[in-house]
Amino acid sequence: MLKLLKYLKPFAISLIVVIVLFFVQSLAELYLPTLMSDIINNGVVKNDTNYIMNIGKIMILVAAGDAVCVIVANLIGSKIAVGLGRNLRDILFKKAEKFSLHEFDKVGTASMITRTTNDITQVQQVLVMIMRMMISAPLMGIGGIIMAVHKDAKLSILFAIVIPFLLAVIVVFLLKGLPYFRIMQQKLDKLNLVTREGLTGIRVIRAFNRINSEKKRFNEANIDIRDTGLTVNRIMAGLMPIMMFTLSATQIAVVWFGGLRIDSGHMQVGDMMAFIQYAMQIMFSFLMMAIMFVMIPRAEASAVRINEVLEMEPEIVDEKETKDAEVNKRGYVEFKDVTFSYPGAEQPAISNISFSAEPGEVTAIIGGTGSGKSTLLNLIPRFYDVINGSVLVDGIDVREMSQERLRAKIGFVPQKAVLFTGSINDNIKYGKSDASTEEIEKAAEVAQASDFISNMKEGFDSVIAQGGNNVSGGQKQRLSIARALVRRPEIYVFDDSFSALDFKTDAKLRAALKGETKESTVIIVAQRVSTVMDADRIIVLDEGKIEGIGNHKELLNTCDVYHEIVYSQLSEEELA
Ligand code: ADP
Ligand code: MG
Repeated sequence: MLKLLKYLKPFAISLIVVIVLFFVQSLAELYLPTLMSDIINNGVVKNDTNYIMNIGKIMILVAAGDAVCVIVANLIGSKIAVGLGRNLRDILFKKAEKFSLHEFDKVGTASMITRTTNDITQVQQVLVMIMRMMISAPLMGIGGIIMAVHKDAKLSILFAIVIPFLLAVIVVFLLKGLPYFRIMQQKLDKLNLVTREGLTGIRVIRAFNRINSEKKRFNEANIDIRDTGLTVNRIMAGLMPIMMFTLSATQIAVVWFGGLRIDSGHMQVGDMMAFIQYAMQIMFSFLMMAIMFVMIPRAEASAVRINEVLEMEPEIVDEKETKDAEVNKRGYVEFKDVTFSYPGAEQPAISNISFSAEPGEVTAIIGGTGSGKSTLLNLIPRFYDVINGSVLVDGIDVREMSQERLRAKIGFVPQKAVLFTGSINDNIKYGKSDASTEEIEKAAEVAQASDFISNMKEGFDSVIAQGGNNVSGGQKQRLSIARALVRRPEIYVFDDSFSALDFKTDAKLRAALKGETKESTVIIVAQRVSTVMDADRIIVLDEGKIEGIGNHKELLNTCDVYHEIVYSQLSEEELA
C-alpha cells in the first residue's frame, strides 16, 4: 500500500485540502457537545431563553460548517480516489504492453485482468475510507478523551476499562480474518481464469460435449469463492455486535454513575449529556479505526498484487543508446550461430543457426512441427532475446536497435492469425494507419482477399467479430497477410501463413507476392513442399538444428530429411 502512495503525488493539493477540511470538521464535532452542555447548564436549568437562543445560533452555525466540510471533503476525496484508479489502470495497461512474452507467462492473462480491474477498485475504495477516517478517527478519539476528562475526570475512569477491551476485541478479530482476504483475491483470479476459458473455448467445449464438466469447474471456483467470503464474513460478523454492545453498555454506565454524581452534587446535568456524546464519539472513532484496520489489509492484498506488476521489469528493453541501421542497407537479415531456449526448457528450441537473407530473395524454412520454425521467426522482431550468437537486421544486432524502429521494418504474419474487432478496412489499416483506399485494396488483392471481401455485404466495411470469428481460417490468414503487405516493409515474415489456403490460392498468392516483394526480404515458414520449392534458399530444420541449406534441387540430392519430406508429400499428392 505504501508503495502505491507515490502515485498520489498528482493529487497532493487536493489531498491537503481534504485533510484540512476533515480536521476542521472534527474540531466542530468536538465543540458541539460542549455548546449543548452550556445550553443545558446555563440556559435550560436557569430558564434563560436569551442564552439558549444565542448559543443555539452558534450551534447551528457550527453544525452547518461541519456539514459543509464533510460534503466538500467527500467530494474531493472521491475525485482523488477515482483519479488514482484511472491512473493506476493506465500505468498497469501500459506496463503490460511493454512486457515480453515471458512476463505474460509469469502473471497470466486472467490474473492480469483481475489486477487491472478488481484490485484497483479495492484500493480505490479503501483510499476513500482512509481519507475520511485517517484524520477524524484519531482526532475525535483523543480529542474526545481530553474533552471528557475535562468535563468529569472521575467518570472518565470508565474509558480505562472500555478502550483496552475494545482494542483487544479488534486485534483478535483482525488476526483471525486477515489471512482470508489474501485468499479471496486468489480465488477471484481462479474464477476469472475459468470464466475466460469457458467463454473463449466455447466451440471446443461444445464439440467435445464438455459443457457439464466446464459447468462443474466453474461451479467449483464459484462455490469456493462463496465459501471463503462466508468464512470472512462469519468472522467479521461478530465484530459489529460486540462493538455495539460495548457502546450501549458504556452509555448505560455513564448515565448510572453520572446520575449518582449529579445526585451528590459533583456534576451538572448538561455535563453528563455532553459526556455521553463524547463517550459515543470516542467509541465511534475506535470503531472507525477498526473498520479501517479491516479494509487496509484487504486493500493491502490488492496493492501487493498491483505492485508486483508495476515492479516487474520487462526482460526486453531498449538500450540507452540505440543504433540505427546502416544507411545503405535495407532488409538484410542475418543469424550468426544463434541458440535459444525457453526458460525452464531442458533443450534449446533452436541451436547454432546461421544463415543470411537479402532483399529480393525468398528464404523458406521447412521442418516438422516443434522443429523450432516459429521460434526462429520470433527472434527477428525480438520477441525473445537469443541466448547465444546474434540476430542482425540491416547489419545491426537487434538488441542494439530500438524495438520500434526494428519492428517498423518488419511485416509479420503470425502462425495464428489475430484480427481485431472492427471493419475489414480497420484491420488492414492496422499495418499502416495512414494507408489510402488504393493501398488497402491493392494489399487485399495481392493477399487474394478481394474476392471474398467483395462477396461480403458491405465489402471493406464489413465488420469482423471479436477474435475474427465470422470469417474462415483461410480468410483470416489472408487478411493478416494483407495487413502485413500494406506496410510495404523491408522484411516479410510469414509463419506458416499459407497453411489454411488451398493449393490453388496458395500458388496464386505466392505469384502475386513475387511482384510485390521484389525489393524486400521474404522469409516463409511452410509445411508444404510446393510452397517452398521455388524459394531461393530453403532451410531444413529438424529438432532445432539446421539439417541443410540450399535450393530445392541441391537439397534433394544432399539432404536426407528434405528428401524424406518431399517424398512423403509428393506421394500424398499423387495419391490424392
Ligand atoms: P514449430 O513452429 O516448428 O512448430 P516452435 O518454434 O513453435 O515449433 O516450437 C519449438 C519448440 O519450442 C517446441 O518443442 C515447443 O514445445 C517449444 N516452445 C514453443 N513455444 C514455447 C513457449 N512459449 N514456452 C516454452 N516452450 C515453447
Ligand atoms: Mg510454428
